[in-house]
Amino acid sequence: MTANRIRIKKSVGPFWRWTINFMVGCDQCLYCYNKRWNWARGSPRIKTDLSLLRKQAESFEWSPGPSAMCTTLYDVLTSSSHDPFHVSSLSTAVEILRLLANTPVASHLRVLTKMALFNPPRCGGLWGMTITTLNGAVARLLEPLASPPHERFNALQNWAQRGHKLWLSVEPMLEGMHLHDLIWSLERLGVHPQEVWAGRLNHRHLSTKAAEYALDDAEIVRQFEEARDSFPEIRWYLKREVRA
Ligand code: SF4
Repeated sequence: MTANRIRIKKSVGPFWRWTINFMVGCDQCLYCYNKRWNWARGSPRIKTDLSLLRKQAESFEWSPGPSAMCTTLYDVLTSSSHDPFHVSSLSTAVEILRLLANTPVASHLRVLTKMALFNPPRCGGLWGMTITTLNGAVARLLEPLASPPHERFNALQNWAQRGHKLWLSVEPMLEGMHLHDLIWSLERLGVHPQEVWAGRLNHRHLSTKAAEYALDDAEIVRQFEEARDSFPEIRWYLKREVRA
C-alpha cells in the first residue's frame, strides 16, 4: 500500500531540501504549528513500510544546493510534521535510523525531537533537540507529552558523549527561556551545539493559552543577539518572521 510507505520527500519549505515523515497526528504540544491543517489532526497514525525508503536511501546522491536559510550539509530532516521519537512512532524511528546508518543519507541527516531518547542507534548527521523554555511548569503545560527540559538536557549530554554532532531548535521561545543561560549550562555539560535556531510562536494559528507564554519579538532579538555574541563559535539562525 503506497499510503503506508515511508519515503524521502522533496521539501517545499525554506529550511531543508528533503524530509522523512512517518506519522501524522503528533499531539505533544498545545501550540503545534501543524494543527492548522486537517491532515494533522486526529490521533497518531504511523507509516511502517520501509521498502521505498530503503531503495531511495541506498541510491541517494547529495550535492550542494540552495536552501533559503539553512546550511546545506544537513538537509534531510526527520521529521517536519511530527516528533520522530513520539511514543507512538519511536520503534519505527529506531528502525529508520538503523536503516539509514549505512547509506549516503546518514551524513546529511538532521534529526529534531523534544523527546529524551537515550542511547539511540548510531547514525550520522546532526542531532537536534527543541528547547522552548527552561521553566518546567511552562513546558509541562504547553508540551504535556514531551520530555521535561531537564531530561532533554540529559539526552543531549548522552548524545554528546556518544559523539553525535548537535544542534538546538529554540522555537517557539516561551516564558522562562534564557538563551544565553541555556547555552552556558549545556556547554558545562559538555554539549557544544554547532547550530542554534531561534524563532517565535506563530500566534495566527494558535491557542490563546499558548500565546500567553510567548516571548515578544523584541525580547527574542535581545536574547538572540546576547547569546550569539557570547558564543561566536556556534552558527546562529533567527527565523525571518521575528521582527527586530
Ligand atoms: S512535537 Fe512538533 S509536530 Fe508534534 S505537536 Fe509539538 S510542534 Fe506539533
